[in-house]
Amino acid sequence: MKCILCNRKGEIELQQGHLCEKCFPEYFQKKVYRTIRKYRLFSKDDVLCFALSGGKDSLAVAYVVSQIARKQKQRMFAIGVDEGVKNYREIQLEDMKRFCDGLGIEYHIFRFSDEYGKTNEEMMDIARKKGVDISQCTLCGILRRRILNREARNLGATKMVVGHNLDDEAQTSLMNLFKGSVDLMARLGPASGDSKHKGFIPRIKPLYFCTNEETAAFTRLKGIKVLYKACPHRKDSFREYVDKKIESIEKDYPGTKTSIIQNIIKIVPLIRKEYINSEIKVCRICGEPSRNSTCKSCDTLRKIGLIKA
Ligand code: SF4
Ligand code: ZN
Repeated sequence: MKCILCNRKGEIELQQGHLCEKCFPEYFQKKVYRTIRKYRLFSKDDVLCFALSGGKDSLAVAYVVSQIARKQKQRMFAIGVDEGVKNYREIQLEDMKRFCDGLGIEYHIFRFSDEYGKTNEEMMDIARKKGVDISQCTLCGILRRRILNREARNLGATKMVVGHNLDDEAQTSLMNLFKGSVDLMARLGPASGDSKHKGFIPRIKPLYFCTNEETAAFTRLKGIKVLYKACPHRKDSFREYVDKKIESIEKDYPGTKTSIIQNIIKIVPLIRKEYINSEIKVCRICGEPSRNSTCKSCDTLRKIGLIKA
C-alpha cells in the first residue's frame, strides 16, 4: 500500500487509506489543531492544565497542545494522580515525569494515599467487605476527578486538557446510554460542557477525532516512551465489555465508532439544554462544587466508611 500523501510505503492504515511514517505525525497534529479550532477548545488567554495519566493518550495530547501553548506564550502545567494501582501507575508516572522534564512542563503529582489515607485497591477491598455496590473503576474515577478539578483550580487553570480519544468517547457514549445516565451524556463532546460554575474547570478533548491506533502510532513515531498496556483492573470493567462489543461491530461495519461520536455531537446540545443548567451547590462535607448536597467523592467515602457524616 502506498502513502496517500507522498506515494512512499504506507505503513499506517486509516479509514481513508494508508500513510507513511513520515506523513503520519503531521496528519495527526493537523487533525488535533482542526478540532481545537473548530470547537474553540481554548484561547491564548487560558491557563492549561494537562491531566496526565502517563499513558499514550495523555502524553500525545500534551505533546501537541504544549507546542501551541508555547508559541502563544501561555501558562501550562500538568497534574498526575497516583491512585496506587500497583505495577502500573508508578511506571506511568515515571514516564510522565520524564516527558514533562523533556518538554520543560511544570508538573504536580497527587496521591490517593495522601488524600484518602488509602490506595484505590485498599479502598476497594474495604468496599467489597462492606458489600458496597461500586466497581473499582467507578471508585477510582470519582475520587480522581475531585483531586484533578480541585488542584487544577487551585493552581490557576482555566481549562483542563484530557487525553480522551475517539474510542474512549464512543465507549463512554454507549455506557451512558446503556446505564440511562442522560445527565452524564450532557458532558460528552470535544468540550465537556460542564456547568459554568467557577469551581468546575472545563475539560477539553483535543484527541476527540483520533483513534486509539492513531494515538499509539503518534507516540511511537515521536519516540514518546509510554507503557502500551492497560490498567490491570480494566479487564473487569464495564468499559472493557462495551469496548469489545464496539470493536466487533466496527470489524463488521467499519466507521461505526466515528458514526457514534458524530451523532453524539449532534445530540449533545439538545441534551445540554435540558440537563446542564441544574443548580450547582457546594458539598456540605468537602466544600467542592457538586450537583447534590454531598459530592460523589464524599458520598463514596462515606459509604465505605472512610469519612463519617
Ligand atoms: Fe482506575 Fe479503572 Fe482506570 Fe484502572 S482502569 S486506572 S482502576 S479507572
Ligand atoms: Zn464532598
